[in-house]
Order: sequence, then structure tokens, then C-alpha cells
Amino acid sequence: MKRDYYDVLGVERSSSSAEIKKAFRNLARKYHPDVNKEDAEAEAKFKEAAEAYEVLSDADTRAAYDHYGFDGLKGRPMIDFDQFGFSDLFNVFFGGGGGGMFDSVLRDAGGAWGATTGSAPAPRGDDVEVRVELELREAVFGASREVEITADAVCEDCKGSGAKAGTGRETCPQCKGSGRMREVSSLGGFGQFIRTSTCSICRGQGTIVKEPCPTCRGTGKRRGNRKVKVEIPAGIADGQRLRLGGEGGAGGPGGRPGDLYVLMRVAVDDHFIRDGDDLIYRLDVTIVDAALGAKMGVPALDGDMEITVAAGTQPGDMKVYKNRGVPVLQGYGRGDLKVIVNVVVPRHLNAEQKELLKQFKKLSSARNYVPDESFVERVRAVFYQ
Ligand SMILES: [Zn+2]
Ligand SMILES: [Zn+2]
Repeated sequence: MKRDYYDVLGVERSSSSAEIKKAFRNLARKYHPDVNKEDAEAEAKFKEAAEAYEVLSDADTRAAYDHYGFDGLKGRPMIDFDQFGFSDLFNVFFGGGGGGMFDSVLRDAGGAWGATTGSAPAPRGDDVEVRVELELREAVFGASREVEITADAVCEDCKGSGAKAGTGRETCPQCKGSGRMREVSSLGGFGQFIRTSTCSICRGQGTIVKEPCPTCRGTGKRRGNRKVKVEIPAGIADGQRLRLGGEGGAGGPGGRPGDLYVLMRVAVDDHFIRDGDDLIYRLDVTIVDAALGAKMGVPALDGDMEITVAAGTQPGDMKVYKNRGVPVLQGYGRGDLKVIVNVVVPRHLNAEQKELLKQFKKLSSARNYVPDESFVERVRAVFYQ
């Protein structure tokens, strides 16, 4: 059962046309698709209001409705609101274009509204994704790789035009070369609604081939394998993607090629853990070297370095080497190399070793095991001496 149009708009039967217009605009604001995304109820309410407004905004149809109700409208052309998307409808009433829509003035009847749908230009080639496996060193310093991809390439026989050698292209008979189709719907009292879409025959190009290229059957492209050189920038991380614009599949006649995406997979490294732009290295130090101090080699990524392990080094002690980490991707500088000490306790001792350690134990005192003064203790020492 249809609701009374005056009830739908919430106005009196004696309302002026200005009041009706105002009521409709308020409802439109309330049920706007930007506010009510994919809300079927809001869309239905808006369509109901639009239909009521269509009838009551026109003096003739309003008079017919006032006298005979819905029966008075039988046989009159009505807008089939269901043929429009919710957003299209707003373009009809408020002229498309997003911002400021609420403030736009309802256009007077008799004008024409336009909306463009399916406005894709000539078809674009496929995007292609490949993955590249990298060692950590390559990710840190950058690398150059050749990847093999399977994608559409430009047909060599027709150079991508899709037309048989020696023949050309001719104007599309359907759109007469414009590449676009206009579809005009009557909006009764609102005038016309003009929808523009891409021509279905030439797919927007405005021309068609007379005789298709036999090699590619007019598509202008052929599938195959090819190699692409990829320059991987220093500092790339696992899971990041590089986009090589235009290196994807060929687009065919008039179409742009797709893009090539290169997904980075960085292998787990035996020595280093990556933490953003920092590298963490675990340095295994024997209890003897930790106790006595030692010089040790650390395999930094850009050349080994020698570091000094101080006497009395404890497990978890960390040394930070500035600017020896990962270069900042597309930025300046490098992260740090953090060397964290892991003190290794010996296993499988022989009798003599055990004896020596027992001797050592006898000769040790609590003093040998006093931990370092912590930072807090040192501060306290300064203030409370
Ligand atoms: Zn061809
Ligand atoms: Zn066409």
C-alpha cells in the first residue's frame, strides 16, 4: 500500500510549492547516500520521497492527485526510479559532484541532467605480480634482478593496432567515432536524464578494425613470457611491493599497459635480525672471554668489524654502532647495528677442566659476582652520598 504523498513529504495538503520543495530537500539531506552508505531503507525512503516530489512539484499532476488520488496518475509517464543507482538519483536532483551538493538549488523542471556511468577509457592491460626472493644483504644494499613474467605483449604483426597489415581502422558505426553512447531517459516534470556510457562496440576508441589482424585476432596483443629487469632499492623490507608502471600486460588498441608489481620476500638471515632500520646481531661470547675481555670479529653487512669485549661483560650487554644498519628506504641515513652479547656456558667438560673450575670457585668471592651499579644507583650515589 502506497503512502499518501503529502504524508511522505510531511507537508499539509495546502502547502505552497516552495514548502514542498523545502520538505523534499530536507528529506534528501536526511537520506543522502554519503550519510547512508548502502542502506537499502534510506534508498527506499529517498525514492519514495522523490516520487512524491515528482508528483506534487508539478501543478497538473498535483491537481490530478488531489482530486483522484493515485488513480488520477494512471497512464501518466512516471520516472522509474529503480533504474537509477542511489548516487545517480542525487545527481539527477542536485547535480553531481560531491561537495556543496546540499547547497545546490534544485533545478527547475525542463532542464537536463547528466550522469556518466561506465566511463572507463580504452581497456587497460593486466597488472602482473611477481615475487622476488632476496638475501638480507640484497635488501639492505639494493640489488638488480631479472624476473620472468607471463603477460600480454604488443602483437608484433599489427604493432598493437589489431588491424590486419595493410588495412586501417574505420569510424565506429554505433557511436560515430565519439566512443561514447548517450542514453536519454524522460524524467517527466524534471526534464531529461542523460546517461553517458562507453560505446559497447568500439569500447570507447571511436574506431573499429576493418579486418582483424589474424595473428592476434584483433586484440593487438599476444600472451607470452618476457624478462624484466628490476632495480631493487636499498632498504627494502620483506612484504613490500615495488610498482613498475607500464611493465605489466599490453593494453591492446588504444589501451595503456598494466603495471608490474614486484613483491619482496627477504630470507631469514643466520646472523642478523632486522628491526625496522636497525640490525640486531647476537654475539656469542664464552664465559672466559666475557670475564677476561677479548677482541672479536662481527660480520657487519658492509665489511667485517672487530669489536672489543670488555672484561666483565654480562649477558645481554649491548653495543650500538651508529649508521651500520639498514639504509632508510627512499630517505637519508642508516639505522644502527646493535650487538647483543650472549654469554655461552661450556658443556662436555673433561676432568681437568672441571678441576680448574672447582679451583676457580674456591678462589672466588662474592665480590667477583657483584653486578654493575645501575644507572639509578649511580644517580642516587651522586645525590645521597
Ligand atoms: Zn595483431
Ligand atoms: Zn563506438
